[in-house]
Amino acid sequence: MSKWDAATSDHSSPEYKRNRAIVRNRDEGFCVRCRVLLSILTPAKDCDHYTAQAHGGTHSLDNLWMLCKRCHTDKTVRESKGGAGFTPFLDYTSGYYIKEPDWLEVIAERNSAYFAR
Ligand SMILES: [Zn+2]
Repeated sequence: MSKWDAATSDHSSPEYKRNRAIVRNRDEGFCVRCRVLLSILTPAKDCDHYTAQAHGGTHSLDNLWMLCKRCHTDKTVRESKGGAGFTPFLDYTSGYYIKEPDWLEVIAERNSAYFAR
């Protein structure tokens, strides 16, 4: 359990444990955000609730994804301050920040691809 969501998450729930195992396989142990935005395979141990449990998020496969420590910590710190999302990555080539996709759509696509195999 990560210290960041210990206060608000129930990581002992059987549904969470079951789905976390699936999500680790689905996301192949890599951070989904770093992979999609940076094309970098960053090892990820944290199975994050996209919508935090404190905000009504469930343990469903549509709300869970693997994040690396950096992305997870950034998101959790912002949530703890009442914010949402991530501090954007800067594209050093263009000088612009990289736009975040609709992550729930990305997660849904990962589920479709995974369960279609
Ligand atoms: Zn990441």
